[in-house]
Amino acid sequence: MATSILIRNALRVAAFDDAGAELADADVLIEGNRIKALGPNLKSQAPADCREISAEGMVCLPGFVNCHHHLFQTLTRAVPRVQNAELFEWLTNLYEIWRGINPELVHTAALVGLGELLLTGCTTSTDHLYLFPRASDGTLIDAEIQAAVELGMRFHPTRGCMSRGKSHGGLRPDDIVQTHEEIIADCERLIAKYHNPAPDAMVKIALAPCAPFTVEEKTMVELAALARHHKLRLHTHMAETLDEERYCAEMYNMRPVEWAEKIGWLGDDVWWAHVVHINDDEIKQLAETKTGVSHCPSSNMRLGSGIAPMVKMVKAGVPVGLGVDGSSSNDTGDLWGEARNAMLLQRVLGGAAAIDARTCLRLGCRGGAELLGYNNIGRIVPGALADVILIDVNKIGFAGALHDPVAALLFCGDSHIVDYSIINGEVVVERGKLARVKEEQIVESANKAAAALVKKAGLS
Ligand SMILES: [Zn+2]
Repeated sequence: MATSILIRNALRVAAFDDAGAELADADVLIEGNRIKALGPNLKSQAPADCREISAEGMVCLPGFVNCHHHLFQTLTRAVPRVQNAELFEWLTNLYEIWRGINPELVHTAALVGLGELLLTGCTTSTDHLYLFPRASDGTLIDAEIQAAVELGMRFHPTRGCMSRGKSHGGLRPDDIVQTHEEIIADCERLIAKYHNPAPDAMVKIALAPCAPFTVEEKTMVELAALARHHKLRLHTHMAETLDEERYCAEMYNMRPVEWAEKIGWLGDDVWWAHVVHINDDEIKQLAETKTGVSHCPSSNMRLGSGIAPMVKMVKAGVPVGLGVDGSSSNDTGDLWGEARNAMLLQRVLGGAAAIDARTCLRLGCRGGAELLGYNNIGRIVPGALADVILIDVNKIGFAGALHDPVAALLFCGDSHIVDYSIINGEVVVERGKLARVKEEQIVESANKAAAALVKKAGLS
């Protein structure tokens, strides 16, 4: 295993540091799990046994950070019955399949989902696993952590939960929800077993009840207290659809953000997914409290949920990152593509000048890092963790666009596969392939598992 890596002669190094530095024909020197230097001709500073990666014709960026996902859904992509359904109908049908998941299936799904993220520029991901079928042994998050370790990805899963089944006014079957006590006990177990508070941790845990319409209020309140006791972050879906807004009005006689404030779910340790249906006063409230938002444009388009006022939020000072959302509502885990869709969708809302490519790239790396609470990833600066990606733009999809190779990453391209990904100082994607696992085996086992799961539920 190399302890030093010298990335040589990159066409551009886009640092996404405070000054927005972009260096032409530059090197990046990595020692151990940290970036030591960037600049021209660093070979003289590199140790003799340093591994060299020629980056001619490549753009070097900080790795992207995925702020919202449901990896288990990777086994239920493009399911015919729900291809054209909106959120509540989509959920009700898919729960019939998802009630069959178990640790082995989650492990397979996570290898696919995290593998896809790695290949599309993501070096740190969260996950939101909120469904724990009574028929499984409950070690589902353990299974996805195992997959992340195998792939070499920095991973910050959230322990999700649902406590409101059909018999208590929820949408889900009773056999996939848990009691308040079961939820709290498993959160404690996962924190003790996996959460690493160190700044260079490869695994951290956050707590994340599924959504306002899926858990009891007391569970939301107690999880916030538990997270704050352990200095963990909090996550949930919020203001995704108008159906949710109506549900909150009926159940609590409040708007979703109003309810979140009442139960202590605003703050700089909280980030929400989606936030599509929000008014100007609520945006101001999020900015003042530094409550973060994971913008998930592909999912919002796919489910017809609406267009989140993302530019407005960024301008107001709301911390914003990007998320692919679950693989059943995207139906890819392509984070680089998500940055492109964020740019395009905001232009539908606000015109061509609404947002530029660099702002979207910045949200994808640095914005995501801030949302998940890391101040040492998402930018290429000396001392930061060595999580960087290399993208070869000497390809047909970028031909003719090299007057601005950084912006071209979002405007052009025929594929979103990165050429190299380095995480914590180790190469995990090499020449466009996952370096530590056999992709073909993962694809084969995922296809078998998905077919069996969908067939069992009678929804193929
Ligand atoms: Zn989601």
